[in-house]
Amino acid sequence: MNRTWISETPASIGQTVRINGWVNTLRKMGDKLVFIDLRDATGVVQVVAYKPDLDEATAIVVDSLRPEYVLEIEGEVKARGAKQVNPDMITGTVEIAIKSITVLNTSETPPFEIDKDTRAVNEELRLKYRYLDLRSERMHKNLVLRDNVETFFRKFLHDQKFIEVETPILTKGTPEGAREFIVPSRMHPGKMYVLPQSPQQFKQLLMVGGVERYFQVARCFRDEDQRGDRQPEFTQLDIEMSFVTQEDVMQLVEAMMIEMVKTCTPEKRIQQIPFPRLSYAEAMEKYGNDKPDLREDKNDPNLLAFGWVIDFPFFEKTEEGGWTFTHNPFSSPKPEHMEDLMNKKNIGEILATQYDIVLNGYEAGGGSIRNHKPDALRSVLEIMGFTEEQIQSQFGHMLEAFSFGAPPHGGIAPGLDRLIMILANEPNIREVIPIPKTGDARDVMMDAPSALPKRALDDVHIELKNS
Ligand code: ASP
Repeated sequence: MNRTWISETPASIGQTVRINGWVNTLRKMGDKLVFIDLRDATGVVQVVAYKPDLDEATAIVVDSLRPEYVLEIEGEVKARGAKQVNPDMITGTVEIAIKSITVLNTSETPPFEIDKDTRAVNEELRLKYRYLDLRSERMHKNLVLRDNVETFFRKFLHDQKFIEVETPILTKGTPEGAREFIVPSRMHPGKMYVLPQSPQQFKQLLMVGGVERYFQVARCFRDEDQRGDRQPEFTQLDIEMSFVTQEDVMQLVEAMMIEMVKTCTPEKRIQQIPFPRLSYAEAMEKYGNDKPDLREDKNDPNLLAFGWVIDFPFFEKTEEGGWTFTHNPFSSPKPEHMEDLMNKKNIGEILATQYDIVLNGYEAGGGSIRNHKPDALRSVLEIMGFTEEQIQSQFGHMLEAFSFGAPPHGGIAPGLDRLIMILANEPNIREVIPIPKTGDARDVMMDAPSALPKRALDDVHIELKNS
């Protein structure tokens, strides 16, 4: 007999079906009657075992059941009487009368209750047993929402002639402001790869490669102290387009977000369309920060207040009195400030073509139009005090690439974890990342990071300081 998904059992009233899943809850009513709520990836259904109707062997199996046992059940789908209908369950109109039952696997008693919201459970315990936590309804819903949102974005972008391109994980450092994870090379003693803090350079090189419209559900790595709600690895919807203006990128992303909300979370309401726009100066003056919470009612869980912050200063002063970029060294200045950039004049007043999308008080993504002419990128680097040697060693490949007919291009990278966190009304991104790290960057399920045997370190030419 083919398996029937639990969510589909209401369509099979009167038929015998085979279902598979885990014991969500067991309720014994006296000696004769046992209710088993069986759970699969699509939902939970009530299974009824009325012992006088079962043969002895089946009754013995029913008596041996415990929460989280893995079962195969054959039974008849029966309509519930009007009074027994449970409107809170997708299968609340039916129940399954057991005919046969097989225990496919037993289970130890889980360290926390899976049939309840696990948010109150100690987080380290939940993370150690993440595979159990993921069985809970809320966590499973979050995974499904994440998949829906990513699937929506992929489809939307494909419909607009984007293609998804994978870029390397073992790569070279790129200056976007964060400390990078390093991976020692075994074949090249003393040399290191770094993990990408974003695919920024690759996506620009893809534009030089004629891809024109690129996206990637991209993992990014940043070795930063875990201030607040950060993760050492996180996911961006990385986008880059050729022959576009700032307006084109903003309009595409705005349309994509509006459609995504309609499709994936129709219960939500977007406060203002088109999304309001604020200059960085206005945002700072009115809200004191550059990711303002624009919600009219902060207690409304279904309100989404998107907005754009634009006109960011390109450069800011470093502690040593020099200049550094505020967002991205690859950004181009606003067209009216290109001359100042090239002449290295009025540096503090140069504005970047940077646009950040904000949502309910979070930065939900940022991007810019890039410098596609080598001289403009060179000017940015010179303003930041790079020597010719540093320019060549760190950016020579970009400058060279731009000298081969680089098209004008720009992009953006909405952060998926935070977006999904807000859509799911979760308090932190760990709730929507399938297997996150702890606040101090440990994977307690896999026990990472962990020590390696000396031999493994020798292979990659590493000697520990205090070993
Ligand atoms: N690379 C940028 C970031 O990770 C996004 C972009 O400018 O497209 O924030």
